[in-house]
Amino acid sequence: MSVEKIIAKIEQNKEIYVEFLRTLIQSDSINPPGNEKNVALIIEDFLKEINIKTEIFPFGNNRANLIAYLNENFEGKNLLYNGHMDVVPPGSETEWKYPPFSALNKRNKIIFGRGTTDMKGGLAAMVIALKILKELKLETSGNLILNAVADEETGGKFGTGWCVKNPLKEIKCDFTIIGEATELNPLPKGIFVGEKGHLQVKIITYGISGHSGMPSMSKNAIYMMSEIIENLDKLDDYIPKTEPPMSMDKLKKLVNVVFPSEEIFERILKEQPDLQSIIHSLTTFSKALTMIKGGIKVNVIPDLCEAVLDIRLLPKQKSETIMKALQKLIEEDLGYLVKDQSTVISKKVFVELEIITDSEGSYWSEWEDSVDLQEFHDLVETIYEKKPFYFLLPASADAHYLRNDGFCPQTIIFGPGKGRTAHAIDENIEILDFIRAIKVYAIFAYKFLCTK
Ligand SMILES: [Zn+2]
Repeated sequence: MSVEKIIAKIEQNKEIYVEFLRTLIQSDSINPPGNEKNVALIIEDFLKEINIKTEIFPFGNNRANLIAYLNENFEGKNLLYNGHMDVVPPGSETEWKYPPFSALNKRNKIIFGRGTTDMKGGLAAMVIALKILKELKLETSGNLILNAVADEETGGKFGTGWCVKNPLKEIKCDFTIIGEATELNPLPKGIFVGEKGHLQVKIITYGISGHSGMPSMSKNAIYMMSEIIENLDKLDDYIPKTEPPMSMDKLKKLVNVVFPSEEIFERILKEQPDLQSIIHSLTTFSKALTMIKGGIKVNVIPDLCEAVLDIRLLPKQKSETIMKALQKLIEEDLGYLVKDQSTVISKKVFVELEIITDSEGSYWSEWEDSVDLQEFHDLVETIYEKKPFYFLLPASADAHYLRNDGFCPQTIIFGPGKGRTAHAIDENIEILDFIRAIKVYAIFAYKFLCTK
């Protein structure tokens, strides 16, 4: 009966929920700089109506994290819903079909705007699920904790990272869902049990400037950089082997379940090189040189060149290992001195390595034995009328803060929205997808907290 009540409630209040989502999208939380407190205050207001205990933890300039609880009792099972409030900048607004912060509702089917998919849709659905459980006064024995966080788009240290070490620290958490979008076109909904890590490194080469008519009297920093770039592939040999959490075969098997037959899957795989490269990227570390800058004048030998290397890590692969390998390559193979942030160097020709940002990957290794996860999977199948598939997130999210260091290894990522439109022009979310996510979050929380 209670599940029917939840569904009926959601059907009755659809319009209110869509309007709540639109209000979140319209509120400015572009990161950098953040301003997530704007979003936190709207959530607090929405939950205040029915006396849900909400705490806002402000920091910096108009930034904040938020935690809200279904009740005050943490003795039973604790379920955590995590979603980030910040969004990436909209890019060139004139390229958007509709203004990115108008949250335009097109024919009651799709909402356009920055943050629709990534991830105010998932966040709003989680907030609403909490509200519904409270409103319906359903009998539950555990607690549902909502954690709306700042800073995800710039690494998450001040958001999920901070919350796990502070207000959430004493809570024994039994299961966590992060509401990031998990639809990887052309596949249906994914349930992600692992994520990749990342490491972005700035490489700076320091040479000696001089007249370009007498190049041998100076040391060209751009040439130094080009030597490094040409040799970058050697990195693969210098990094100790890390086993991926799943093999190519296993990943293919996981995706295979959403296709009617093996043949159809193989055909789609051939026709969709994107899908192939996603699967491949999950079994290996990758690197890409993404930015480069050097030179000041047509007739001056440059003494400085900067480049950025974007590396994606497998779970368990550490930034320090990669940094050591990079240093070995530059020092031993190319013969340049490497200066890190702590050393002082008297030489004029050297290379500096600087970590811009990094995050660990993570993986819930026991996911196949979890009854809770199986129930979640079946619920998604019922609500979405399509079998979801288990997979790994090909990018990095906040899950490592929760999974690693033992806070809650049983963390999954699942949410409304299409991965492909995240961070893109004309980002959007389907209203049906959003409503279904509310149903999944609300019903799962109810069932999870009912069982002792
Ligand atoms: Zn996100």
